[in-house]
Amino acid sequence: MIARMRLQPADIGSGLTGQRVRDRLIDWLRAGSADYEAITDERVLNAIRTVPRHQFVDEALAMRAYENNALPIGHGQTISQPWVVARMTEVLLQQGMPKRVLEIGTGSGYQAAVLAALGVEVFTVERIGDLLRTARKRFRTLGLHVRSKHDDGRIGWPEEAPFDGVIVTAAAASLVDALSTQLAPGGTLIAPVGPSGGQSLLWLRKDAEGAIVQRDLGPVVFVPLLSGMVDA
Ligand code: SAH
Repeated sequence: MIARMRLQPADIGSGLTGQRVRDRLIDWLRAGSADYEAITDERVLNAIRTVPRHQFVDEALAMRAYENNALPIGHGQTISQPWVVARMTEVLLQQGMPKRVLEIGTGSGYQAAVLAALGVEVFTVERIGDLLRTARKRFRTLGLHVRSKHDDGRIGWPEEAPFDGVIVTAAAASLVDALSTQLAPGGTLIAPVGPSGGQSLLWLRKDAEGAIVQRDLGPVVFVPLLSGMVDA
């Protein structure tokens, strides 16, 4: 998870946020490597190609938006690596395209935008008011329909439950029960779980009878899932 994709010097002349740089990221995701499992779902690759990640970070960081890096978005938070977004999205789509997905941790809004670009009805919750306001502006600018709420996402979004998919983009020490409760039968939940500094990506599926199957998809690093709300 430490290896990074670096842009080649040949890209510099073509614009650091242009189609050529984006296509290079897609080729890299598709190829995979020892550290990064190949992304094979063309729907996901296409959504990553379409959503302008450079518009989800500060202008000063835009030229690094198509590298496989997490980048700071303020308030000590980060936009996840493109590979992590691609992988979590791919896993979420494995059992068929979910109709309604709950995301916990809007952050920059990028993961929500990728899901919305796939035609998913997205409900996203963020605890930091300032981040949510900026993300909402981005959704509006890009014409993406995303439902969002300023709240502590550990309670989920009970009024809108159940969801066909739940994606948690901040790490808790253990799985938050309220979130698996809000998963519909046949639904998939994906969440980083474990101590700060190194977690496992947890895959959980609820079958038609409501029985739960779980799998560990390997190590990831996420910012922590915190309690309470921040107004600023
Ligand atoms: N999905 C985001 C990743 C953001 S990082 C993106 O695509 O950019 C994780 C985010 O989770 C941070 O913005 C953090 O503020 C938020 N977060 C942490 N704990 C939370 C909680 N309890 N409820 C809602 N959001 C939370």
